[in-house]
Amino acid sequence: MYTSFLYQHAPVLVQNIMLSVRALIRKLIREKHGNAKLLQQITAHSYNEQAINSFAAEQLQHTLANAAEKVPFYQKLNINMELGITDFPFIDKAMLKAQKEQFFSHDSNGVIVKGETSGTTGQALSIPQNLNSVLREQAFVSRYLTWAGFKKGDKRAWLRGDMVVPVATKSAPFWRYSYFENMILLSSFHLTVQSMPLYLHAMHEFGVDIIQAYPSSIVALAKYLQSTDAYYPGELKSIVTSSESLSKEHKALIEERFKCVVFDWYGLFERVAAIGSCEHGRYHIFTDYAYVELLPAGNMIDGRERAEIVGTNFNNSLYPLIRYKTGDYVVISHETSCPCGSSFPIVEQIEGRIGDYLIGEDGQKIAILNHISKGVKGVLACQFYQQQKEKIEIRVVVEPNVFDEQQKAILIHNTHERVGYSIEVQVNEVPQLEQTKAGKIRQAICTYKEHK
Ligand SMILES: [Zn+2]
Repeated sequence: MYTSFLYQHAPVLVQNIMLSVRALIRKLIREKHGNAKLLQQITAHSYNEQAINSFAAEQLQHTLANAAEKVPFYQKLNINMELGITDFPFIDKAMLKAQKEQFFSHDSNGVIVKGETSGTTGQALSIPQNLNSVLREQAFVSRYLTWAGFKKGDKRAWLRGDMVVPVATKSAPFWRYSYFENMILLSSFHLTVQSMPLYLHAMHEFGVDIIQAYPSSIVALAKYLQSTDAYYPGELKSIVTSSESLSKEHKALIEERFKCVVFDWYGLFERVAAIGSCEHGRYHIFTDYAYVELLPAGNMIDGRERAEIVGTNFNNSLYPLIRYKTGDYVVISHETSCPCGSSFPIVEQIEGRIGDYLIGEDGQKIAILNHISKGVKGVLACQFYQQQKEKIEIRVVVEPNVFDEQQKAILIHNTHERVGYSIEVQVNEVPQLEQTKAGKIRQAICTYKEHK
C-alpha cells in the first residue's frame, strides 16, 4: 500500500486514515480467527520446563508426521516414523531455492500468504504460509511484547522498514499514526542527523510507552543523544528490537540513553527459530516455537564456542522445514538458569546478520538493504558499494537466463526509492561477491563517511 500512487500522493491526514484502516482490518481478521487460546497456553507454560517440553515434543511429532505424509521432499525419503528428528537430513537455503515446490504440502487449501526473505547474501527466497501460520506467529510475538511490559492500551512507536512516508517527502512530519493501534509509525528512511531531534520529540509528545525498532535506527538515535549529551526525555517501559543483529555495546548504549531495557528478538522468515532477550539481558531460545539444534561450528572466535542455528518450524504446516541450517550463529552459554525465572534455555549471544548501510541523498544511513532485491528475479546475491555520496554500485551475482534489462531496471528503481533519485545507481554483474573473514557477505561496503 505504501508504494501505491494513491497513498504516496494523498495528504498526510488521509495517509493516517488509510494506514489506520488497514491496521484495523488486520486486527479484526486476527480477532475473528483467534489466537487467544494459543497465546494463553504459551504464556501459562513459560516458567514450567516440563510443560514446555511436553508441548514442544507434541509439536515436533506433529510437524514430522505432517511432513512425512504430505510433503514431496519428505515423502520420497520414506522415513520410518518410529525414528526421530535426527534421521531427517539437514536442509539449507540453496536446497530450498533449487527444489522449492518439493517442500509445499499437498494440503494447501485456504489463503496462502507469500513472503520473501533474503538475509545476508541477498538471495531472495519465497516462503509460503497459511493464515494459521501467520496467526500463530502473532501469538508468539504478542507473548514477547508482554515480556517487554506491553499492556493493552499502551502507546507504541514503530521505527522499522515500513515506507510510511514517501521517499520524495523532504519535510516533517516523517511519521504517521495508526489510530486504532495507538501507534506512531516513523520512517527509518528519513532519519537524518537534522531530523533526529524531531523524531525524539514526536515520540515523546505522543507519550510512547514502548518503541519497536530496527537496531540500526534506534542505535542512530542513541548515538545522536550521546553526541548531544542528552537522554530521551520520556519514560519508556522498554524497547523491542529485531531483524538485524544488535551488538552488546549498542544494546548498552540504547539502554543508557533511553533509560530502559532493550528486548532483542531474533527470528527469520523461514520461521525455524526464535530467540529473545529477557529483562536480565539473557537470550532465551523459545523451544515451544520451533525445535532448535545448535550445530557446533568447529572454529572458535576469540576463544568462544560457536554453533550454527538449525531449526525445525512448528508453525507452518503448509511449508514445513525440518533441520534447516540458517547460516546464523550463536555463542554458547554455560548458564543453566536465569534470574528472570523463565525455563527457556540460554545462549550467550547471537551472531546474526551484519548491519551494513548506505548513505542516502540527505545523509541518512540506510540499513534495510535486503528489501531492495525483493521482487527482482534472477538476482542470486547482491552487494552495494558506495565510495562517494553521489554514486552506488550494485554488484550482483545473477541467473543470466532470468535477470534481464527489465529486472535490472526494477533493481535500480528499488534502490532509488530508498536512497533518493539524485544518486547514480549502477549495476555490475560479477561472478562472486567479496566475503568477510568469517565467510559472510556484507550487504554493503560504504567507504564514504558523512558524519562520524
Ligand atoms: Zn532470562
